[in-house]
Amino acid sequence: EIRELVSSMVGGYLPTMDEMEFLLSLDWEGAQVLLEGARKVKEELFGPEVHIRGIIEFSSHCSGRCLYCGLRADNRDLARYRMEEEEIVRCAEEAIGAGYMSLVLQSGEDGWYDRWTLGRVIERIKGIKDVAITLSIGERSYEDYRYLRQAGADRFLMKHETADQGLYDRLHPHSSFRRRLECLTQLKELGYQVGSGFMVGLPGQTLRSIARDVLLLKKLDVDMAGIGPFVPHPRTPLGDQPAGDPFLVLKTVALARLLLRRPHLPATTALGVLDRRMRDWAFHGGANVVMQKLEPHRYRRLYDIYPKGVGEERSIAEEREELERALESMGLRVARDRGDAVRV
Ligand code: SAM
Ligand code: SF4
Repeated sequence: EIRELVSSMVGGYLPTMDEMEFLLSLDWEGAQVLLEGARKVKEELFGPEVHIRGIIEFSSHCSGRCLYCGLRADNRDLARYRMEEEEIVRCAEEAIGAGYMSLVLQSGEDGWYDRWTLGRVIERIKGIKDVAITLSIGERSYEDYRYLRQAGADRFLMKHETADQGLYDRLHPHSSFRRRLECLTQLKELGYQVGSGFMVGLPGQTLRSIARDVLLLKKLDVDMAGIGPFVPHPRTPLGDQPAGDPFLVLKTVALARLLLRRPHLPATTALGVLDRRMRDWAFHGGANVVMQKLEPHRYRRLYDIYPKGVGEERSIAEEREELERALESMGLRVARDRGDAVRV
């Protein structure tokens, strides 16, 4: 029964809610069929290629109050940092020298960086090389989004976090689900390649709600989708809740690949933090992207979304070489291009 369902999905069949819930509840053995199907779809589209995106987490200041995140404004126990314009550009330059063709600029919701400052950063990086620039800076005005797109930003990442509106509104006292969707619509309109995504294992979330998350990504017709586990941070209101189940994340990524087909799907950093082996498995079950942090280690430690280790300090080039070797040893081939959105 699993085999039949999965093979019809490989052929394009859209499953019912019950069928999706069934796939998400499979045990390890049953899930192998799901992962195989997802791998097949991925390989048809991307072959063995995997894209490495470099991410510069340039500010840990945030006016947001998301209940799950260690960077929330209410967390007063965290030393905060901001990278200067010059420092961000230098970091990007080093990354470009090390072979990066795709850079993500991410931060908390930090109004200190106005659109002109960010615009200059984008223009200066583009002046070094025409790498793909992705912004992940949260909710901003339409004018900001328009200006930054004109300055050269190619893509924008903004997770919808959960498609359960009631849960979303409880988790985000400073904003709303409607506002999040409005931002995503505006970004699309402005011609950004748009990435969204969600967390698995949020308190109060059900398998049905995860199935709805995947369907929302389909409706949004996203170019990228980050699906990762919730990881509790002790200095947040959800600090004593259990973490998301890495195996469920793996199944969700596979389901997303079967249903959505074309988007770039990362094996997320959060998944790797909880269970490195599960992150590696994700590449065999539909994922085709991985992110590597680029900012200096003293900042990585302070970009404290959730507890994680930062490892020993090495150069951007050395870290990339090591990551490439690890990916190649899994039978993957590291892409050399920007890895733009794929249309099928
Ligand atoms: N501030 C921007 C925003 O919220 O879109 C970008 C930075 S924010 C730190 C990036 C992502 O981190 C969020 O979309 C959220 O999914 C994720 N995140 C935050 N807290 C998390 C947690 N405790 N566990 C897992 N992911 C988390
Ligand atoms: Fe701020 Fe983003 Fe964290 Fe929410 S998820 S608190 S907006 S950094």
